[in-house]
Amino acid sequence: MEERAGAAATSVVREGHISIAIAGGGLRATSVLRLLNDIENLDVVAVFDIGRTAPAMRLAEDLGIFTTTEVSELSQISGLDLVLDLSEDEALYRSLDAERPADVVVVTGSGSELVWDLLIAKKRSEEQEKIFVELQVAYDKIRSHERRLQASKEALERANEELESRLAEIFFTHEFFKALTTFSSVEDVTSLIVDGANGILGAEISAVYLFDQRDWTLRLHASQGRPEDYFVPAVPVAETILGVAFREGFVQQSDVQAGTDLNAWSTRPEEIRSHAAMPLRSGDSVIGVLMIASATFRDLTQAERDRLQVIANQSSLALQNALLHEELERLSVTDRLTELYNHGYLHQRLDEEIERAMRFGHRLSVIMLDIDDFKQFNDRFGHPKGDMVLKAVSSVIRQNLREIDVAARYGGEEFVVVLPETDVAGALAVAERIRTSTEEYPHIADEQGERVTQTVSLGVATYPLHVSDGASLIEAADQAMYRAKRAGKNRVVVAA
Ligand code: GH3
Ligand code: MG
Ligand code: MG
Repeated sequence: MEERAGAAATSVVREGHISIAIAGGGLRATSVLRLLNDIENLDVVAVFDIGRTAPAMRLAEDLGIFTTTEVSELSQISGLDLVLDLSEDEALYRSLDAERPADVVVVTGSGSELVWDLLIAKKRSEEQEKIFVELQVAYDKIRSHERRLQASKEALERANEELESRLAEIFFTHEFFKALTTFSSVEDVTSLIVDGANGILGAEISAVYLFDQRDWTLRLHASQGRPEDYFVPAVPVAETILGVAFREGFVQQSDVQAGTDLNAWSTRPEEIRSHAAMPLRSGDSVIGVLMIASATFRDLTQAERDRLQVIANQSSLALQNALLHEELERLSVTDRLTELYNHGYLHQRLDEEIERAMRFGHRLSVIMLDIDDFKQFNDRFGHPKGDMVLKAVSSVIRQNLREIDVAARYGGEEFVVVLPETDVAGALAVAERIRTSTEEYPHIADEQGERVTQTVSLGVATYPLHVSDGASLIEAADQAMYRAKRAGKNRVVVAA
């Protein structure tokens, strides 16, 4: 008895807290105990049941709450505010009510039901609150993930764009270098260089000037971005940004308006806002200048300058080859590709034939021939295939001539045939044979394996029928050829 009272004294009654004792140790009491135990300002200080092994008794022991089997001990707990009777035992209620101190309330029956309902409702709202907070946290997390996702998606898109433009540039650069190795005329190489400056660097305006040591000027050979008359055709090496690059190396003026005036290479210098020039070198000597310009402000980055340098280096090599090639061509009498006579030799031979014709009163005919739509062919099948066509046309010409005739490659895809002692009818017949043989020649096949037809337009002129002096023979044949072009190509036209 002493001991139990002592035990009762150990039940903790805290200031400002409501102290509750539970009577009855059934399952409902277990739940109520659990719920009450979670509520702040509310302490379950004792549990009573007649059986020590009742579920609520065990739980109370686990929670360190005082338990008793003696109902009288409940009334000895000091500071107790309320006894919650969950026993559904009428007799127990009566004894509780009889023994309780005056300030202790005993709640039973529907009162205890109400407490139960309130506790459950409170529990639910707490759980809802908790779930709501958890939801809020989860929502915030999702939002921040979403934001991060959006940011990385944008970064990815930017990287993608950058990559795509770099790829296009790499692809173009590759094509550019490949083309450089197959182009052999100075004209072709220089126009490729300006295209390269446009494709690789996005140059709005670009031009290649080559050094002419006869009069120390830089001469325009190719340009892009403006009509040809926008560029001064010959610039002294002492002048403009071209001259500076020629003498000193790479130079750029990103804002012409702010700096000195070096834009006199243009016929409309007031329009230039930025320009830069890079020398094209062959060993120690400068052979030309690559210039890029724009009407808007542009400051080349180091990477862009490096690219310009690479373009200049690579094209200098190709340019050297082309210049060398032209020099060799000039020195030799035959054209290397077609093995026909070259332009220089043709004029020499023509002069001789004219002299002979005039002296002996012979007739002399000339055929001027130009391949139709050859640029288009090159664009579609590439230069090497174009070269094959040039060779094929040359052999067609050769097959239709006599020993004494002279055939020459006059220009890129233009040919001249000199026919000594031949009247207009004879020349016309030869021209027509060349025309039909070219049309029937098994030229290359296209992507589908279909034969590609290649045609030529020809002009015929005869001395003394069309011209009184031999010197205008070529001119007359050329005009006739142009009439053939205008009349629809693939035909022969005789000079008027
Ligand atoms: P048209 O029917 O009016 O003569 O048109 P076209 O395209 O033949 O004439 P255009 O003068 O515009 O183009 C001539 C082309 O010939 C452009 C040039 O690249 C090409 N060409 C010139 N020389 C060579 C060469 O040595 N090899 C190759 N493959 N092409 C050449
Ligand atoms: Mg032509
Ligand atoms: Mg042509």
